[in-house]
Amino acid sequence: MSSEKATAIVLRVVEFSETSSVVTLFSREFGKLRGLAKGARRLKGPFESALDLLALCRIVFLRKSSDALELLTEAKLERRFRPAKGDLAALYAAYYIAELLDELTLDHDPHPDLFDAAEHALATLAEPAPVAVVVLRFELTALKLLGHLPQWNQCVECGRPVPTVGRVAFGQLAGGVLCANCRPGQKQVVAVSAAVVQLLARLSEPGDGTPSQQHSSKDELPDSRTLGETRAVLGRYISHVLGHVPKMHRYLAGR
Ligand SMILES: [Zn+2]
Repeated sequence: MSSEKATAIVLRVVEFSETSSVVTLFSREFGKLRGLAKGARRLKGPFESALDLLALCRIVFLRKSSDALELLTEAKLERRFRPAKGDLAALYAAYYIAELLDELTLDHDPHPDLFDAAEHALATLAEPAPVAVVVLRFELTALKLLGHLPQWNQCVECGRPVPTVGRVAFGQLAGGVLCANCRPGQKQVVAVSAAVVQLLARLSEPGDGTPSQQHSSKDELPDSRTLGETRAVLGRYISHVLGHVPKMHRYLAGR
């Protein structure tokens, strides 16, 4: 057994015994890890109550063979997740991000870019932020990094540009928008308003996640109707990718 160090976000904590917890973490270096933290529930000790849901920690663990739990030996808190007081929308959004990290990734499959995107989204949600947009941007980044990002501009079947006017055919199974020629015979096609497709395309753009743009001014924010429909379309697509509806999805704010 070798001892490893990592920076990780706490995704799930389950009480294991009076003093110990089983913790699911998403680490920058090793991807998702599940570990036993003996003594984690004591206030003093090697964990110093750092293993809090959504906390960012530096951890030390002993690597186990494939199926066994890792043995966490140390955790140092870097940053606790604290949304603005009473901001339930931000809290639920952060829980949703943790759920997606857990459900979309495999154990020991590192995605440092995804880790950075999650850390950035959580840091943004801890401040006053357009919660719905932060969540959409994170989801689209995660889908892109994991190879599930739908095609928003060109027909996913033939590659021809699809005009974004009126309502646009989005094929969930096909994984993108469909032109009039390719639409017939496709399953799970929904008609999505052009504004929603444009918003999803814009939020999928690389380099559009800088802090200044995260805090875009109110007039740059989409109207609540477009946001609501976008939330529904992406929620359905993510449920399709996962094979079920994420538990936290219904708690997400439409704004
Ligand atoms: Zn086509």
